[in-house]
Order: sequence, then C-alpha cells, then structure tokens
Amino acid sequence: MSSFIQGLDILLRQLRSLDTANRPRVDQAIIDRIERLRIDRPEEISSQTPDPAEMSSASDPVGTSSGSSLSVVREDTHRVFHPDEEELVSTDRDQRIAKLREKVLVCTKCSHLAEFRNTVVFGVGNPSADLMFVGEAPGADEDLRGEPFVGRAGELLTRIIETMGFQRSDVYIANVLKCRPDMPKGSSGNRQPTPEEMQTCLPYLRDQIEIIQPKVMVALGGVAMRGLFGTAEPMKSLRGRWHSFGNIPVMATFHPSYLLRNQALTEKRKVWEDMLQVLERLEAPISPRQRNFFLGKG
Ligand code: URA
Repeated sequence: MSSFIQGLDILLRQLRSLDTANRPRVDQAIIDRIERLRIDRPEEISSQTPDPAEMSSASDPVGTSSGSSLSVVREDTHRVFHPDEEELVSTDRDQRIAKLREKVLVCTKCSHLAEFRNTVVFGVGNPSADLMFVGEAPGADEDLRGEPFVGRAGELLTRIIETMGFQRSDVYIANVLKCRPDMPKGSSGNRQPTPEEMQTCLPYLRDQIEIIQPKVMVALGGVAMRGLFGTAEPMKSLRGRWHSFGNIPVMATFHPSYLLRNQALTEKRKVWEDMLQVLERLEAPISPRQRNFFLGKG
C-alpha cells in the first residue's frame, strides 16, 4: 500500500475515533472528502492484487528471511465504513475496545503477574477486523513494548499476515493471557502461561472477540488452543482444522516460534496451507502464486 493511502487510512481512523456526539460537522465533511480521495484511487487497488512478481525474495511465504511482502488493499477496506450504520458500528467498536482496554490495563486479578509485568499487553489492530490472531501470552519484548507479537516470532507473524495480503493494522492480534508470565528473579527468557492464568484472563479475550466480531480467528499454537478451548490435545491433531469459538470459526495452526525452532519446509508449508484455508473462508482473493507457493516443495 502506498504511503499516501496509508496516511489517508490513519487519518480516517483517527477522525472516526472521535466521539460522534461531539464531532463538529466540519469533521464529517473532512471524513467524506478523505473517503472520496481514498476511493478515487482504483489504480492503487488493482496494482496491488497479489502478483507472483511482487512476492518477497523469501523462498516461501512463511520463511524467516526478510524482504518486501505482498501488500493488498482488500475491497472491503473501502466498503466497510460507507453505509451509515456500518460507520456507527465501527465507531462504537472503537469506543468499546478503548473502554475495555482501560479496564484491562489496571487488572490485578493475578497479583503475581501484576507485580512482575511492565505493561499489560492488551491487543492491537483494527477493532472492525474480519480476521483475528490469538497467541498465548506476551514475552519479554511484548511486555516492554505493550504490544503483542513484536519479537522474533512477531516478525514472522507479520510476514505471514502480509503474505496473506493484509497489513498488520487490517487484522486484530491478541493473546489469551495479557501479562507476561513471571520468571524467577534474575532469569531471562519466557515461560508458558498456566491453564489457571489463562482461565482467569479469558473473559477479557471473550470481551474483545464479542466487540470485534471477527469473521475468522486463527489460534497460534497448542497453548492458545488450550486457553481458548481447554483442550490438551496435541497440535498434530488440532492443526489445519476448523474449530468453533461460539459462532466464530477458528483455524488452529502452529505458533510462529515453533517455525523458528523447526525450519523444515514441511512445517512452513502446513502453516501456509492453513492460511489459505483462512483466506478461502474470508472469501479474500488468492493469487496463483499464493495458491501454488509450495507446489513441488516439501
Ligand atoms: N508469543 C505469543 O504467543 N504472544 C506474543 O505476544 C508473543 C509471542
């Protein structure tokens, strides 16, 4: 996406997040003008349809090397705010998410985690996202930045999202547990959250999901699956299949950290196949290059 369009999107999001009741009429006029500018750039859309030639230099879409990734402006990005009701829903969502965030940021339900953490890692992205990723818990990097998936695993997740044709800001990313699991004094590294910690925090994720109403969710790894569904089944049997969280379909796939530890093409391929299922479920465009990425490999 061009920086011009990105700038317009940021501006739109900021204007829309203003309280509608207090938003002066002139603001609405500005929003209308920006939206028209946004729509009047069809060439931005067609030139960004997934094209094999645009694929990053990485040899596969879930690879660990960096490079420019596919960037697709989804059609519904342009549509979503247009009908008046949808704009209202979107503004309402922004406000509800902001309110929930305030509540979660001061949570002390798990006193040991509240004492240990630097920040509560609430979640990030588009409160009107069609697609939501759910991980297990923040690590040290996320705890410092206050944002999920910003370490090495996060970089890989971002590449997967971009190769699917989205920007990180199009989707919503959250964890089951919002605080970094505590570690013994003086030791570095991260630990998995316990089932009890996840159960205590799950209502916050439920509230996020209830507000965002994503069309599809992706659960990243066995711990996230356990947090969401209470299942201790191995990923071998959970992954690549649809599960239901209430009425929302959930694709279980490997955690990006697993792919960093296990660089086998077969494992990357499985994750990419899961993401293709997600794109299909979202009825998002899939280019031949995306479809055949691992053809004849692994
Ligand atoms: N792993 C997770 O599950 N979540 C994060 O936010 C970072 C790493």
